[in-house]
Amino acid sequence: MSSHVEEFGLFIGGKWVNPPGAKRFETINPATKEPLASFVSATPADVDRAIGAAAEAFPAWKSTPAPKRGAVLLAAAQKLTERKAAVGQIVTQEMGKVIGEGLGDVQESIDFIEYMAGEGRRLFGETVPSELRRKFCLTVRQPKGVVACITPWNFPTAIPNWKIAAALISGNTVVLKPASNTALCATEVVKVYEAAGVPPGVLNLVTGSGSVVGTALVEDPRIRAVSFTGGVDAGREVYVRGARGLKMVHLELGGKNPVILMEDADLPLALEGVLFGAFGTSGQRCTATSRLIVHEKVYDTFLHMLTERLSHFSVGDPLDPKTGMGPVASADQEKKILEYIEIGKKEATLLTGGTKLTGGVYDRGYFLAPTIFETKHGSRISKEEIFGPVLSVIRVGNYDEAVRVANDVAYGLSSSIYTRDVNRAFRAIEDLEAGITYINAPTIGAEVQLPFGGVKNTGNGGREAGTAAIEEFTEIKTVFVDFSAKLQKAQIDTE
Ligand code: NAD
Repeated sequence: MSSHVEEFGLFIGGKWVNPPGAKRFETINPATKEPLASFVSATPADVDRAIGAAAEAFPAWKSTPAPKRGAVLLAAAQKLTERKAAVGQIVTQEMGKVIGEGLGDVQESIDFIEYMAGEGRRLFGETVPSELRRKFCLTVRQPKGVVACITPWNFPTAIPNWKIAAALISGNTVVLKPASNTALCATEVVKVYEAAGVPPGVLNLVTGSGSVVGTALVEDPRIRAVSFTGGVDAGREVYVRGARGLKMVHLELGGKNPVILMEDADLPLALEGVLFGAFGTSGQRCTATSRLIVHEKVYDTFLHMLTERLSHFSVGDPLDPKTGMGPVASADQEKKILEYIEIGKKEATLLTGGTKLTGGVYDRGYFLAPTIFETKHGSRISKEEIFGPVLSVIRVGNYDEAVRVANDVAYGLSSSIYTRDVNRAFRAIEDLEAGITYINAPTIGAEVQLPFGGVKNTGNGGREAGTAAIEEFTEIKTVFVDFSAKLQKAQIDTE
């Protein structure tokens, strides 16, 4: 392993620590395959220390007035704003998304931290009338305790921040376990909170594998809630392990998101949306458009428009602002996507792409051609999450068939319909089985003030972002204040 890159430690109890003799791993720039930085492969003993620090910090953080917790978050948002250009560049270098999207990842983090800072002055409960006289009934929100946040690599600052900011404003303390291949982004995130004055132990970072670090976190009885974003297989494992400890496990998992294109759609508008939805972030968004379901009346016209535009779509250096699509995030990603492309070549018709790109900058990184298959509904590429720049196009005869196809997958995260018919748009809002539906916009484009999440195998019913995020990280306490100065019996006393 090379030793010329900067070495980072774990963040435990407000200190950066390098456990003696620790094994290390490096993160790699997927556009160049150059190592970026080195991180500790934490052990269960390190995880134990991090949870211990978080447990020790919990009582004081819980009793810190929520508006004061909000002030710390606002300071973190400010620090991140000052560092936006630098961190955006790190996102692009470590994960491969183009620079505009790298900066967007950081902006989404800033937006969300600011939004959650404001929650410090809300964290609303309810007041509810009592059935008895001189009795006051209300609810208050309380933190869960020490929570584990386990995050993927595709939004390497935004997803950690979605979890951290919501957990902290609610009064929890946090142990963050980021995806290993974007550990530098996670380190940058934690440094921002450190600079903002988050007290020691309130936020801790442990790097390392899901099987060792993730498992140790999920199984520890001091962890009261797990917030997990990632793939279905790991999510299911986390859910089952968490269930044994009777913990709340919040899962945000995969997608197979459709755009439905009706015969009355604004085709040039849809073209821009489909390109951005399918090939933005090299198709590695959980909300990426991976299926295009097209009415037969506009099918040939639209496919011609799509393939024509893709013939001069620029793939290349993600730091160049003119590049439309960068590399995929890692060697593993490249391998998995190429395997799906081979499956697609056997079961469907390749319209464009379908190869690893070679020559020049392409030889240095994990670059794939944007790929489109024409396929029948039911093929593997039309139903399984590929998580890469691969779009499956499916021809349908009418709206009902389009919705049937759209819904006939295991996932239900995002969905979209392009139509000028307002009645049909509203029907789609009712009919599409998904946590998110866009009308005349692609399947991507979350805003932090709205709930985010999906149905079916995309999750287990919770939502992140918006005020829903507070529900993820708080318990509700119901309070009865009896000021009658006598024993009153609910359901028994009638006067
Ligand atoms: P992944 O499931 O491989 O890993 C996610 C995180 O879980 C990583 O930190 C990993 O180290 C950890 N992990 C893996 N196995 C674990 C285990 N057994 N116990 C505990 N932790 C474990 O996912 P990924 O490749 O990083 O991300 C891609 C997936 O994430 C895609 O399926 C994508 O759709 C999904 N995703 C979903 C959303 C959403 O909000 N619904 C957002 C982004 C990504």
